[in-house]
Amino acid sequence: RRRHEAELRAQPAVTADGHRVEVAANANRPDQAAAALDAGAEGVGLMRTEFLFLERASAPDEEEQAAIYRAMVDVMAGRPIVIRTLDVGGDKQVPYLDLPREQNPFLGIRGARLCLRRPDLFEPQLRALYRAARHGPLSIMFPMVTTIEEVEQLRGLAERVRAQLGAPRVPLGIMVEVPSVAVMAEQFAEHVDFFSIGTNDLTQYTLAVDREHPELAAMANSLHPAVLRLIERTVAGARVHGKWVGVCGGLAGDPLGAVILVGLGVDELSMSARDIPAVKARLRSVTLVAAREIALRALGCETVAEVRALEAAVDGAGT
Ligand code: PEP
Ligand code: MG
Repeated sequence: RRRHEAELRAQPAVTADGHRVEVAANANRPDQAAAALDAGAEGVGLMRTEFLFLERASAPDEEEQAAIYRAMVDVMAGRPIVIRTLDVGGDKQVPYLDLPREQNPFLGIRGARLCLRRPDLFEPQLRALYRAARHGPLSIMFPMVTTIEEVEQLRGLAERVRAQLGAPRVPLGIMVEVPSVAVMAEQFAEHVDFFSIGTNDLTQYTLAVDREHPELAAMANSLHPAVLRLIERTVAGARVHGKWVGVCGGLAGDPLGAVILVGLGVDELSMSARDIPAVKARLRSVTLVAAREIALRALGCETVAEVRALEAAVDGAGT
């Protein structure tokens, strides 16, 4: 039985009618990537590089970062890895960066806004990423993007660094976690190679609920139909330009959420390694046809509770 479980973990997630879903893990360090492989991950869908910058006295330099990204590539041995550039600000504060205090840190200089203002941090990171890209498949992703101008600037900086190093081109994507990007996904999709939807922040910014607020935790629910409609719109915009869409926020690791996301047409789900076995089992238990039907019903719901009640429909959709 244990042997059977181990074998099942290593199998891809294929729905009961044969649709394959890419299941990846969120992993920030090489040892976490190795653990994710054991749990059945087919790739790393999100490496949050800010964790390299936390709990230390100064920023990791280009050499140190290059060694870590290279180690990730080596552990993953040819499987895809999406590495996100520095996403500090907001809830993630780094004392030695001397970031100005802000009234509304979640609406302030975080993610791509910081990357664009701090070439002293961003350029060494880009150089380290392109050096690691010589050793295996790696995609670069930019966090907290809000406007097309930002995308153009981010891509321009990345391309300049790449050309200086004579490094290979890599896919350049963005996080979809600000409603402006979801609403204008069709336009953004022309300028990027892929999207990864960050449902944690997309929910926070859509519902105007601080994702860390102790009293509002129940409200900050990514199954809200407004969030699901933005995800639908994101996938539709990506499709117009044939671009790939993943989800790396918490909704991907929720079995019902995963079914709805697959039904909405998402290509890849990236989650914490411990959620992988339950999500794979859930996806194996439904057909793509049923997942699409459940996703359509979810889009028509008025409340989170109504969406959550679709769990019963998923249970009934098993073969
Ligand atoms: C998200 O916002 O959903 C996401 C994956 O990014 P983070 O949780 O690191 O903000
Ligand atoms: Mg986020």
